[in-house]
Amino acid sequence: MSRHDSMITDYYVVCPYCEYTYQPEGDEAVVDDAVMECESCGKKYRLMQEYTLTSHTTPDCELNEAAHDWEQRTLRDGSAAEFCLECCKARLLGGGEV
Ligand SMILES: [Zn+2]
Ligand SMILES: [Zn+2]
Repeated sequence: MSRHDSMITDYYVVCPYCEYTYQPEGDEAVVDDAVMECESCGKKYRLMQEYTLTSHTTPDCELNEAAHDWEQRTLRDGSAAEFCLECCKARLLGGGEV
């Protein structure tokens, strides 16, 4: 588990860092992948919205110019991977994306 999880919510947009919640204006365009800045904590996160107005926000260290807080884990197939405790990024050790 990362310290900040993706937030999937109906109607509301929830900051993945501080859980600040706001309701977007009804006529706001639905976007594919927007960078939002939290009004409460000032951190940036990605926002994806779907037709149902389900909002999916994910934390991203890189947006906030912070270093990932990697923790190494061993996957079920025995390969080693690193997961960022701060956001949802993962990478296989020895190259490649998870
Ligand atoms: Zn926030
Ligand atoms: Zn990270």
